[in-house]
Amino acid sequence: MRVFYTDRFVLPLPVGHRFPMGKYRLLRDRLERELPEIRLTPAPRATDGELALVHTPAYIQAISDGSVDPRVMREIGFPWSEAMAERARHSVGATIAAARTALAEGVAANIAGGTHHSYADKGGGFCVFNDAAVATRLMQAEHARVDRRPLRVAIIDLDVHQGNGTAHVFRGDDTVFTLSLHGAKNFPFRKEAGSLDAELPDGCGDDEYLQALERALGELDARFEPQFAIYLAGADPHEGDRLGRLKLTFDGLEARDRRVFDWAWQRRLPMAFAMAGGYGHELENTVQVQLNTFRVAAGYSMRWQNRPR
Ligand SMILES: [Zn+2]
Repeated sequence: MRVFYTDRFVLPLPVGHRFPMGKYRLLRDRLERELPEIRLTPAPRATDGELALVHTPAYIQAISDGSVDPRVMREIGFPWSEAMAERARHSVGATIAAARTALAEGVAANIAGGTHHSYADKGGGFCVFNDAAVATRLMQAEHARVDRRPLRVAIIDLDVHQGNGTAHVFRGDDTVFTLSLHGAKNFPFRKEAGSLDAELPDGCGDDEYLQALERALGELDARFEPQFAIYLAGADPHEGDRLGRLKLTFDGLEARDRRVFDWAWQRRLPMAFAMAGGYGHELENTVQVQLNTFRVAAGYSMRWQNRPR
C-alpha cells in the first residue's frame, strides 16, 4: 500500500498551541517500524491550477503570499508562514497522489489531509485547502478524458466534526455524494447541508456509532452508486480526544474502519483515505487510532493485489 507524507513541513506554532503537529512524524515512524508492507513516499506539491479546481484564485494567491485577511487566518487557527502555505499545498498533493494511486491499485493514503472545513474562498478549523475536494475534482477531470460520463465520487467523512467546507463545495453537484457522521453539538456550529448528514449526541459510544454508520452506508447505497471513494478517517471520535465529545473505544474505531473498508471492498470500489482530526489528551492515543486504520487498510490493500483479474 502506498502512503504519502508531508511531515518535513512543520508549522512554527506558538508554545501551548493546541494543534498536535508532532502526530504526523510519530505516525510515520510507527508505520515504518510496524507495517513494513507500506511504501512511504514524500507528497508532491499541488499546483495553482489543481487548487483552482476548488479554490478561488484570490484565496490561493493570498495563502501563498501571506496577504490573507487576518480574520480568515484567525478562523484557520494557525499563524501564517511560508511553511504553513507549503505544507497545505503538499497535503493536497498527498491526497491527489493517494487518489490516483487508489484508482490504479485499490487503496492508498495520505498521512495528513482531510481538511474538510476549508471552503472555496476561505479556510477554518486548522484547514487551509480542501484536499479531498481538490482530489475529487481532479480525478473527475482526468476521468473525463477517457469517459464522458462523469466519475461518481463518494466522500465518507467520519471525522467527529462536520465536513462543512466539503458539503458547501459540492452542493448541487449530483456526481459527488458527501456523507458526514459527526457530533451534533461540536464545531462547526453552523453546519452546511451535505448529501447525507448523521448527527451524534455527546457521549455516543461504539454501538450507537456503528449503528448510525450502518444506516448511513445503507442510505448512501440506496441513493448513489460511487465509482471511487475518499475516506476521512478522523481519530477524534475517540474517548480520549480533547475536542471530540464522543466515547468511542480503540475497538469501536477499528470496527468503524473495517466496516468502511469492507463496504468498499465488497463493491470493488477503489478508496483513498486521509487522516483528518485527532487531538488526544495523550498524543499516543491519537497515533494509535490512526495506526490501527492503516493496519486495517493494509489488509484490504493485500486483497486488492491478490484478487483475480
Ligand atoms: Zn475533526
